[in-house]
Amino acid sequence: MQNKDKLAAAVSPEQSAGEKPLPLVIGVDLGGTQIRTAVLRGAALLSRVNLLTGQNPAPDRIIPRVYAAIQEALDKANTSIEQVAGIGIAAPGPLDSRTGIIFAPPNLPGWDRVPLRDIFIEHFHIPVFVENDANTAGLGEYMFGVGRGCNNMVYMTISTGIGGGVIIDGKILEGASGTAGEMGHMTIDWHGERCNCGNTGCLEAIASGTAIAREANKAIHAGEGAELLAFARTMLQHSSMVPDRAALPTQGHDAATVELRFPPDEPDEMSFEREVSSQPHEEHLHVNARTVALAAEAGIPLARAIIQNAAEALGVGLVNIIHCFNPEMIILGGGVTQMGPMLMEPVQRVVQERALKIPRDAVRIVQAQLGTNVGLVGAGALIYYHSEK
Ligand SMILES: [Zn+2]
Repeated sequence: MQNKDKLAAAVSPEQSAGEKPLPLVIGVDLGGTQIRTAVLRGAALLSRVNLLTGQNPAPDRIIPRVYAAIQEALDKANTSIEQVAGIGIAAPGPLDSRTGIIFAPPNLPGWDRVPLRDIFIEHFHIPVFVENDANTAGLGEYMFGVGRGCNNMVYMTISTGIGGGVIIDGKILEGASGTAGEMGHMTIDWHGERCNCGNTGCLEAIASGTAIAREANKAIHAGEGAELLAFARTMLQHSSMVPDRAALPTQGHDAATVELRFPPDEPDEMSFEREVSSQPHEEHLHVNARTVALAAEAGIPLARAIIQNAAEALGVGLVNIIHCFNPEMIILGGGVTQMGPMLMEPVQRVVQERALKIPRDAVRIVQAQLGTNVGLVGAGALIYYHSEK
């Protein structure tokens, strides 16, 4: 492939004997609570250094720490910035990927029109690209995950919120102002629950982990959740015996990852840390999405109904996506999709029932492959993506 030839040109001479490996890249995953940095070759993490953003994530405080984390990641991978083809940064939107300017993301207070790409280029003097984190996750799955070879695909992440990235003809769909792919905010029920965006009945307000937890807690407060509450209490009592997500095997390619300097991956809304409050008073009990999923697995009717409703809403959302984009593949990632068949079966059924035949026959709906490293792999993939253009 000619793309490979172009990439090979960036590989140093000593690496080019025989099978030509991809060049080294740096990935930065800029999150609201944690920033991850890594040296990668393709989907393989050679090193990884994470840092917490802390109470004050102002750019002038955070950016020098990211420089230091990158240097540490380079040291751990026994390489230097001169050996790296570029830095890819996955950042929360809204942002303009063409200029690399970040516009006041809600989860990065103090960031307003930060020209992140130019700041990094000035410091490192190598190519830097900035992209919306949902788009980079989609790009990661497209280049190195389950979406390899699918030039028309949609990636959706379903966790606290719902986001996504759309790849059309092998290119990230950016839209007129860089916000294409906000699939969590497609309206499913225009009389529905209020969404964070201000609208009502968005997919995110029905099918996200937050929405699943909200429905469960609403039922509990209405006195309908005695069985679920009892289940949640039992979970709390035994939570130390239940394996956390962090202990479960991931499908990453990071066997060579060097130790973490900072705490491991933060718990998300599907983990037990934000489970029922440690105070055994009923008024403080707050059930999270993972508990609802486990309760549904255990056969508790209220939990099953909540999961089923979320899954059907997701299925309706996918029908809309199938009709808009005619994708070859829809990839579902994020914590909520870890509930597996309980979510996927109603999704597939709704798509079978409601989607037009021709685009329906063309699409496969699958679970994401890259696991928790998708943010870093996708960020690094930006360098390969732009060098192919
Ligand atoms: Zn919304």
